[in-house]
Amino acid sequence: MLRFLSAQSSFNLWVIFLAENLLVTVLALLFGWLVLQFNRKPIKAASRKEVFICILTNVINTVITYAGFWLWKHGYILLSYTLSWRILFDFVTLFILMDLAMFLFHYAIHRSVLYKAIHRFHHHYADPIPIDLFVLHPLETVGFGSLWLVMLLLFNFNFYAVFIYLMANVFFGIMGHLGIEPIPQSIRKVTPFKYLGTSSFHHQHHLNINHNFGFYTNIWDKLFGTYKG
Ligand SMILES: [Zn+2]
Ligand SMILES: [Zn+2]
Repeated sequence: MLRFLSAQSSFNLWVIFLAENLLVTVLALLFGWLVLQFNRKPIKAASRKEVFICILTNVINTVITYAGFWLWKHGYILLSYTLSWRILFDFVTLFILMDLAMFLFHYAIHRSVLYKAIHRFHHHYADPIPIDLFVLHPLETVGFGSLWLVMLLLFNFNFYAVFIYLMANVFFGIMGHLGIEPIPQSIRKVTPFKYLGTSSFHHQHHLNINHNFGFYTNIWDKLFGTYKG
C-alpha cells in the first residue's frame, strides 16, 4: 500500500488522503448510528455547525496524514513491517503511551486559559452525539495531530500496529460520544474492561469537566486522582 502511495503525484495523494479521512469518518458515524439504533436510543440530528466543523476537522486531519506520509517518505518516520509479536507489543505501547500523552495534554488544557479559548468548544456538548468526536476547535485538531506525529517521529513502530491503533482510536472516540452506555455493568466490572475508557467514562467528562481526562483507559485518572465512575 505504501509503495502504491509512493508512486502517486502529490495532487493524487491529497485526494486519496482526504477520501480516506472522509471514509473513516462516515464509517465511524455509521457505526455509532448502528449502536444507537440497536439500543433504541432516539438519534438527535447534527446541527449545521457540527457538520461544518466535522468537515473542517477532516481537512485538517488530511494535512496531518499528508505530513505523516511526507515524513515517512523522507526517512524521518521509520516503520517496520514484520508480521510478528511486535504487532501486539507495539499496539499496546502506542495505546498506553498515546493515552498518557493525551491525558496530560487534555488535563493541561483544562487547567489553563486554553480551556476557554479552545477546548470549551468541544464541551459545548454536555450530551454528545457521535459526530461530536470530530467537533473540535481547529487548533485542538492540529494539537492532537502534532502529538501523534511526534510520537511516530520518536519511536519506530510496526506498521500494522499503527494501523490497528488508528482503528482503535476512532472506535474509542465514537464510543465516548454515544451519549449512552451500551456495555452492561456486569461486563464493565471485569478485567480488562474495568480499566478501559467506556462510553460513560468520557460522557462523565462532558457532564463534569473536573474528572476523566483519559481517553482509552481510566488508569491515568485513577493514578492522578481525577477518576469518577
Ligand atoms: Zn468529548
Ligand atoms: Zn475536556
